[in-house]
Amino acid sequence: MRPFAYTKATTPSEAVQAITSAGHGTRFLSGGTTLFDLMKLNVETPAAIVDVNAIDELSDFDTSGSDELVFGALARMSDVAADARLIHEYPALSESLWRAASQQLRNMASVGGNLLQRTRCEYFRNGEPFACNKRKPGSGCAAIDGIDRGHAVLGGSSSCIATYPGDWAIALVAFDAVIDVLGPKGTRTIPVEQLHREPGDTPHIEHVLEHDELILRIRVPTTSLGRASTFHKIRDRESYAFALASAAVAIELAGDMVKNARIAIGGLATRPWRAHAAETELVGKRLTEDSALITGRAALDGAKPGRSNGFRIELGARTVADALMIAKQRAMHV
Ligand code: SF4
Repeated sequence: MRPFAYTKATTPSEAVQAITSAGHGTRFLSGGTTLFDLMKLNVETPAAIVDVNAIDELSDFDTSGSDELVFGALARMSDVAADARLIHEYPALSESLWRAASQQLRNMASVGGNLLQRTRCEYFRNGEPFACNKRKPGSGCAAIDGIDRGHAVLGGSSSCIATYPGDWAIALVAFDAVIDVLGPKGTRTIPVEQLHREPGDTPHIEHVLEHDELILRIRVPTTSLGRASTFHKIRDRESYAFALASAAVAIELAGDMVKNARIAIGGLATRPWRAHAAETELVGKRLTEDSALITGRAALDGAKPGRSNGFRIELGARTVADALMIAKQRAMHV
């Protein structure tokens, strides 16, 4: 690990000012569960770090509102996951946090920082001698002709097929969440669905935030779809593993007809992936095992297999289908 300058901020504006003066190559530090890992691997080599953990006003969260749920960016994943209203009225949000990491990591990691976690592509994390356009722009992509079992089948490019690894963002995208961010020019609001970029020919640019913009909070509009929701995650082992495929779904039924549906996919795409067309196709239909599978396959429409990850297209479709049937059970008990 290389030496770096360290600053502790106690207000959001102090943090933004500190990172603006330090210039590019500076990072905000919240839980540190991704950043420190990547610094130890020499993948992240910030010249300076601005620690935001002492900004108390960003640690609170409030799920009691009638219009929106509000999560300060520094709220810890474990605290939010254990919130009683979230567990009962928005299970997909709570489950996405429970299933994201071990208890120790959930205790450290913040809900804001979690949105910006970086890919688990081994070629990216293991550095030289592997070509990686994300780590070193223009160097190539070792995954495309290499081991791509865990790589994306949606949203990839000829420059990068790295999967977005998070779970929480998938559930947030299903619920139309937004983030408020503060930068040198003031605050702005960004839908979580528009936060992450597809790699295109610049895979090193992963999101739309400027380097000196700090996530203040996440806001989720309240909705009647919350209770009949789930986050379903399929992985190689049942705990502490990243998704081979995941789905956050929420539905509203009128009798046994689908009145409203939300479907977002994780583990299969280069960014959190909302399946709008599949949602539209499902509305007005009876939700059965057959229609759920047709919807799951529609959600994976356009997926492109690589050398050894093609099995995850059908796995993804069946993950969506299973999630819809779990949500249906919950809808019948709302
Ligand atoms: Fe790098 Fe992306 Fe290729 Fe992985 S998939 S080696 S992150 S360019």
